[in-house]
Amino acid sequence: MSSDHIQFRAGIRGEVIQPDDAGYHEARKLYNAMIDKRPALIVRCVDVADVMTSVNYARDSALPLAIRGGGHNGPGLGSVDDGLVIDLSRMRWVRPDPAAGTIDAAGGALLGDVDHAAHAFGCCVPSGIVSTTGVGGITLGGGIGHLSRKYGLTIDHLLAADVVLADGSFARASETENPDLFWALRGGGGNFGVVTNFTFRMQPTAMVCAGPMFWNLEDAAEVMRCYEDFITGAPEEINGFFAFMTVPPVPLFPPDLHLRKVCGVVWCSTENMERTNQLLAPVAAWPKPLLTGVGPMPLPVLNTLFDGLLPSGLQWYWKADFVDHLSDEAIALHIRYGSNPPSLLSTMHLYPINGAVHRVAQDATAFSYRNTKWAGVIGGIDPDPANKEKISAWARSYWEALHPYSAPGAYVNFMMEEGSGRVEATYGSNYAKLRRIKAKYDPGNLFRVNQNIAPAETGATAA
Ligand SMILES: Cc1cc2nc3c(=O)[nH]c(=O)nc-3n(C[C@H](O)[C@H](O)[C@H](O)COP(=O)(O)OP(=O)(O)OC[C@H]3O[C@@H](n4cnc5c(N)ncnc54)[C@H](O)[C@@H]3O)c2cc1C
Repeated sequence: MSSDHIQFRAGIRGEVIQPDDAGYHEARKLYNAMIDKRPALIVRCVDVADVMTSVNYARDSALPLAIRGGGHNGPGLGSVDDGLVIDLSRMRWVRPDPAAGTIDAAGGALLGDVDHAAHAFGCCVPSGIVSTTGVGGITLGGGIGHLSRKYGLTIDHLLAADVVLADGSFARASETENPDLFWALRGGGGNFGVVTNFTFRMQPTAMVCAGPMFWNLEDAAEVMRCYEDFITGAPEEINGFFAFMTVPPVPLFPPDLHLRKVCGVVWCSTENMERTNQLLAPVAAWPKPLLTGVGPMPLPVLNTLFDGLLPSGLQWYWKADFVDHLSDEAIALHIRYGSNPPSLLSTMHLYPINGAVHRVAQDATAFSYRNTKWAGVIGGIDPDPANKEKISAWARSYWEALHPYSAPGAYVNFMMEEGSGRVEATYGSNYAKLRRIKAKYDPGNLFRVNQNIAPAETGATAA
């Protein structure tokens, strides 16, 4: 171990893990087991001071730097080969302030931590659908989930963030403090610094009526047309993401459906059961479903339904695009690929981002696709590393066929590492401003292990 490393280690209150340490191989594991990175140092920070020390050390030692929140990122951007990982997994505290209607979550908190704490006060922060996802990554990319149509994205609830910047200094970002940084954090990913605390506005939803409907694949074309008609104008209280999937062989589903390939919609309504049935009344005119499983449940229960199915350590290959319309040609391609998944867990989801998401202006935050209907994602997923190529090839060819019918950009949190052109397409008309803000806060591109926004050439000024 170098003397520099020894001195650095002495300044850290948390844990510093290196390749020769006993816990190294466990510590370097990411949620996506397809990604196998070997950092030089993993720093399990316990406070803001540890984060500042780590940022300074990585910068001064010219070590590549990665930020790990929940570790869920598809391409494994929470880690880096031969560099320093700021691992925030020991910074998961959450503090609701019910009087103010807000909640603070530390940079390494998981969605389940926030759900659990907010639910005790009859509230929630609208976010993703799997409780083990990191608040850090999902929020900084946007945050899409069951409540997006009703309340908007997770970033639409962000009031302030504490950030350790590339120069090691500490800044607060909000509408009134460093507003350019605050704008960029809401969709710009981990490009601008390490967020050590998020302050969110809570929403008053504790219970939802939710669950799946499944249909025969023979009905998929008709169901997709009906679904688009419905979700385009449905009241915002109802959300439903569309999926091609294989029914998992779990007690939640009738045995005769186990392992059957289906298309489905996972509904979530913020209304009671009676009103939810009214909201879903138009679905009675769709093809007859194989299963209807919509019922009342606490929101944190809904947000843990997929946890068991998707444990850490699976192989994942993602492809994504924003989608505005399901043309007949696109539907035919969806059916061709969606009906033939390469493994039980492989799936395609269309997450609605209309409703409340559209009511925020496209240039109000860095997240720029506020005018399309869905964030689509194709996930090749399987536990067996031997199937890595098979699931990746399926996701790639599915995406290549569909991409001409989709927007040029994709949700950053559903992308693999796809190059600067895709990042630029994703941020669209917000990209130039993001580059200027990047140049102001991280001119040397220290924070580059992410969907990277290149700093603008020097001379340009921020927003
Ligand atoms: C099973 C599963 C379900 C998902 N469901 C949803 C969903 O419903 N909705 C949705 O929108 N997305 C969803 N996602 C995608 C998810 O948003 C991304 O994978 C996201 O990157 C995960 O964030 P993380 O903190 O867990 O990841 P990490 O791998 O830890 O971090 C990803 C990137 O985020 C940045 N980052 C993380 N924390 C911080 C921080 N505190 N400060 C600065 N930068 C930080 C870093 O740049 C890092 O490279 C899901 C992913 C999985 C695997």
